[in-house]
Amino acid sequence: MAERSNQRIAYFNGKYVPEGEVRVPFRDRSFQYGDGCFDMTRTFAGKPFRVKEHIDRFYRSLAYLGIDIGLTPGELTEITHEVVARNQHLLGPNDDWWVGQRVSRGIKSVGEGLDPWEDMGPSIIVDCMPLPFAARAKHYRDGIRVVVPSVRRTPPSSLSPRVKTHNYLNMIMGDLEARERDPEAWAVLLDEHGNLCEGIGSNIFVVKDGRISTPQGRYVLEGISRQTVIELARAEGFEVIERDIDLYDAYTADEVFLTSTSLCLCPVSKVNHATIGDGKVPGPVASRILRAYSAHVGVDIVKQYLDRLQ
Ligand code: PMP
Repeated sequence: MAERSNQRIAYFNGKYVPEGEVRVPFRDRSFQYGDGCFDMTRTFAGKPFRVKEHIDRFYRSLAYLGIDIGLTPGELTEITHEVVARNQHLLGPNDDWWVGQRVSRGIKSVGEGLDPWEDMGPSIIVDCMPLPFAARAKHYRDGIRVVVPSVRRTPPSSLSPRVKTHNYLNMIMGDLEARERDPEAWAVLLDEHGNLCEGIGSNIFVVKDGRISTPQGRYVLEGISRQTVIELARAEGFEVIERDIDLYDAYTADEVFLTSTSLCLCPVSKVNHATIGDGKVPGPVASRILRAYSAHVGVDIVKQYLDRLQ
């Protein structure tokens, strides 16, 4: 759908404009410092998923950063639906969107005597883009290989990982290292204490003897898909606990999987050198949750990916 990129409509500071007309000045604080935040939901069959949860998380990020965008959550929700509606005719069959809300604190004022904190007020963008089904389809067939890099996830005492800021450098450094070891691997960083934490866009779960564990919310971005999986797994009768998980837990797990808005749930086949379970994916627990997730959203999640395999 690359050829359609100029046809997509985005919301930019009060107006709906072609995406190519969204221009962020180089003195923008998000460009210069990563001073801003965002959130991302996706659609299922064209309908945005759990918008309220994403918008609520976004307003918690804004509150943490002390940014007032002058819009109520209700108004931003309406804008989000409007962007999806205005682009609906561009959605291919069996395609879906990522839908993002993005805010920068503002554009730095430049001039003698001006306080560097003075800015022109926040910039607000709401956009959508096609999900990368083809590029990620193989992960549902083979499982994701996870590599744990040496770089640790930013601790809550420095900058809360619960905030979805525009500064992803900590996790990008982890990805660079992981990709050097295995170009197709996804990095999952350890937290400051050496427990498994999260990756650049995903939360991690391990399954042992039917019991499902995921790292504590304090150390990660509490994913909306993470929450969805916790709810669905409990409804399926599984015990799910938030606790410290270390590499021993991962290497000896029956199953490991990642969750994210785009993936929903995708099985992991290896963590570093260790093959997870019998190496076949998805394992029985992941399969059951994926079935429940698909029923919950009305789209066969795995099929939507696997249909794109060449
Ligand atoms: N952790 C990080 C750092 C992320 O960027 C994301 C993606 N938003 C996630 C976890 C997964 O969150 P969600 O399920 O809401 O996409």
